[in-house]
Amino acid sequence: MVTYNKEQIKNLQELDKKHYLHPTSSLKQHQENGPKRIFTEGKGIYLTDVNGDQYIDALASLWNVNIGHGRKELGEAASQQMGKLAYSSSFNNLSHETVIQLSEKLASLTPGDLNVFFFTSGGSESNDTAFKLVRHYWKMKGQPEKKKIIGLERAYHGITMGATSATGIQQFQNMTTSLAPDFLHAAAHKTNCEWGDKNDSDYSRSIRGIIENEGPETIAAVIVEPIQGAGGVIIPPDGYLEAVRDLCDQYGILMIADEVICGFGRTGRMFGVDNWNVVPDIMCMAKGITSGYIPLGAVAITERLRDNLAEVSDDVLFHGFTYSGHPTSCAVALKNIEIIEKENLAAHASKMEMELIKGFKYLTEKHSSVTKSRAKGLLGAFELFEDREQGIPFGPEKMAAQKLVEECLSQKLIVRSVTFGGTNIIALSPPLIITKEEIEKMIM
Ligand code: PLP
Repeated sequence: MVTYNKEQIKNLQELDKKHYLHPTSSLKQHQENGPKRIFTEGKGIYLTDVNGDQYIDALASLWNVNIGHGRKELGEAASQQMGKLAYSSSFNNLSHETVIQLSEKLASLTPGDLNVFFFTSGGSESNDTAFKLVRHYWKMKGQPEKKKIIGLERAYHGITMGATSATGIQQFQNMTTSLAPDFLHAAAHKTNCEWGDKNDSDYSRSIRGIIENEGPETIAAVIVEPIQGAGGVIIPPDGYLEAVRDLCDQYGILMIADEVICGFGRTGRMFGVDNWNVVPDIMCMAKGITSGYIPLGAVAITERLRDNLAEVSDDVLFHGFTYSGHPTSCAVALKNIEIIEKENLAAHASKMEMELIKGFKYLTEKHSSVTKSRAKGLLGAFELFEDREQGIPFGPEKMAAQKLVEECLSQKLIVRSVTFGGTNIIALSPPLIITKEEIEKMIM
């Protein structure tokens, strides 16, 4: 382990404060206090900081380090690929072996005929790509007015313009101005997304209500996370995703599943939709595809959709990133997926779900404010209430969840709070290699 003396640590803190604009962070706090921790190494479920202190990474960093930290095989795969072919472009129908192998591998994992892949550098780019593809699709089919996207309240889809607009968390839109009215939001996860009864006062907030009010001829797609992650680990009731699929089929609308968090074993199945046997028309991925070791995202589309696009237009598809199909990222993804499969990490996550639930039960018994815990695979959360028996939440001024996150950090545990909309949710999403004993350590 590399050690740092006081002088070096102080220097790093000052340089961070002076030169680094942190993503999704408070600028004021940063300018007052500098970075909260500076990490130097990772191994398994642990991160080590400049002081040599070890932290449990209970969120797999940003829900993405699925195979855990410090897996040398991924570095070796990157190094080999860089030595052979570090970069080449896929524009203008050029190709390379590694992207072909990754596309074939992904096709063997994705459900239904989601067998065609476009590559990006992350989740936001994947979602924006999906939005552009569905609009392009309808335009090519002679229905250019079919361009609106319906997302869900509490959804998180990323920070590019389209992805932010589809996101159902107001704070993100406050900064950038949303692309409304082309992006609409339906209430999340009521028992049946249809709210079949038009007399229901919430009908106009349902997916069906929005489709009918706006007119299906104006709606390009509905986007859903199989389980909402950043919104607070909101697991839909059984039947919900199936109902979204049916609605989309009924009204001739494309269904996009945002698998950026749920994909690659997180929920106990390879993809989130596999828990409900739903096959969307488009699936967006990132994060777990490389376990965060290198940036990569992917958009899976059905062969049918690709064939339709190829038939109706012989024009160039004017959409491509410099790093679409980056060879080194593809090589790392292949090695990462090999590890997920070899170590049965999706099945392991499913087995560990019970341990996480047991841990939440322990916390509920020990702390009178803990309630509403849930988990699917290794994606879990619990909530904090001032009076859980009476269902009285903590007021925002109490900052209950934020305080707990800071308290955990001081005890060398990294968790995440979700506090918008009056909720105090603590999310946990540890690396999928976590053991029963490590879950116990994380909870205690
Ligand atoms: N979609 C979901 C469900 C996410 O959780 C995230 C990031 O947390 C994104 C999209 C955006 O991905 P990225 O940060 O790689 O752009």
